[in-house]
Amino acid sequence: MKTTLRLFLLLLLPLVAACQPRPTGTAITNVTLIDAVNGVRRHQTVVFDGDQITAVTSSDTAPAAQRTIDGSGKFVIPGLWDFHVHLTFDDNFTDTMPALFLSYGITSVRDTGGLIHKMLPVVEKMRSKDAVAPRVFFSGPLLDGDFVVYDGTSRPEIGIRNTTPDEARAAIQELAAQGVDFIKIYEMVSPAVFDAMVETANELSLPIDSHVPLSMRARVAGPFVDSIEHLRNIEMDCASNAAELHETRLERLENPDGIPGAELRSSLHSLQRLPAIGAYDEEQCDQTLAALRSTMQVPTLRLGAFSLAPSFQRDDWETALSRVPPKVREEWRASANDMAENPVQEYIDFGKWAVFLTGRMHSQGIPVGAGTDTPILLAIPGYSLHSELEYLVRAGLSPLEALRSATVRPAEFFALQDEMGTIDPGKKADLVLLDANPLQEIANTRKISGVVTKGVFYDRDALLARADMK
Ligand SMILES: [Zn+2]
Repeated sequence: MKTTLRLFLLLLLPLVAACQPRPTGTAITNVTLIDAVNGVRRHQTVVFDGDQITAVTSSDTAPAAQRTIDGSGKFVIPGLWDFHVHLTFDDNFTDTMPALFLSYGITSVRDTGGLIHKMLPVVEKMRSKDAVAPRVFFSGPLLDGDFVVYDGTSRPEIGIRNTTPDEARAAIQELAAQGVDFIKIYEMVSPAVFDAMVETANELSLPIDSHVPLSMRARVAGPFVDSIEHLRNIEMDCASNAAELHETRLERLENPDGIPGAELRSSLHSLQRLPAIGAYDEEQCDQTLAALRSTMQVPTLRLGAFSLAPSFQRDDWETALSRVPPKVREEWRASANDMAENPVQEYIDFGKWAVFLTGRMHSQGIPVGAGTDTPILLAIPGYSLHSELEYLVRAGLSPLEALRSATVRPAEFFALQDEMGTIDPGKKADLVLLDANPLQEIANTRKISGVVTKGVFYDRDALLARADMK
């Protein structure tokens, strides 16, 4: 009897094994996980399957996976965002940007300005099924006022004119129909046009990104938008004579001589920016910052404070530069030489102010996002985000807070914090595997061993091969 039973069970065994589900997914084992919400978790295994993290557990109890990557001695952070990019600003870059971003661990980007007919095909390509590209969120054009700064004459054409509130409403409705993820309000809009834009975007549930319009004070415009770029025009509201500066701007913005938008804007910046910083008044500024408490600031310090730590002075600059298109490479070398030979005191002064103000904002609880404005001002796509993280630490954010600015904060802007930004089961599978601890030294985010993008792991060599100039 016993023998018969044993035999029966033995015969059954292969059948049972066949019914066991085969392990699927990829596991990064025995690794240290770091994210801005969960902090540091050691000896963990993270499993992802398709475009989702399916398990995060102690390595001793980890489920089996089809593929295993040994993470011993390594660190995993969530995929990084560059929260301020321009994919269509320079045609030389458009095709090469996605691979460059990924090679630097950037798995999501927010495009903050490009004409819609140029943006749509780029977005479609990046979102196509088998594309190896970061997730992309886009605004379409800069929504400017009567005088357009980026009108295609002295600067690339990425802005559009909005003279009346009705025109602004129609423009935003049209953009929403074309699928934009948010809108970008630019500097030359009138208060009435600004109000119409805010109202329309709210009706359509579109997040709002903005420069502070020159016609308005930061403390007035700020609370109505979800993010502000470059700390733009906030210095004017932090001056002891902020009200007077505002009056002067309103007069000049009447622009009876019809000066082109770019020129008009530059003249106002030159007239007020450094004098306003010179007239900094802590009490005034605290009132401004109090009004910005829930408006994310994307200070783009690697742009605004470029002169404090120029990227071309870094040891890894030449290697990174070898991955940008040859034509651009030569132009950028020439600009770098020029900047090295002719430092401009005003840029240094503004840079110091920008770093100071970012630190002050952070200490007052204002959310900070990490963006670069790549490819503007020698910003190598991807590479420059790591510079931004270093600047944020220089401004007073801890390395973990700097990581928050490039992970959790961007997700919050799009109300995607349940899907992205941390390493938790159910989140999208975007991860960066690092060879060194970014909390010890933020520059360690550059020491990339591999990247998981939309659930696919690429090791460093594969990423570099993709990003290499053909
Ligand atoms: Zn920009």
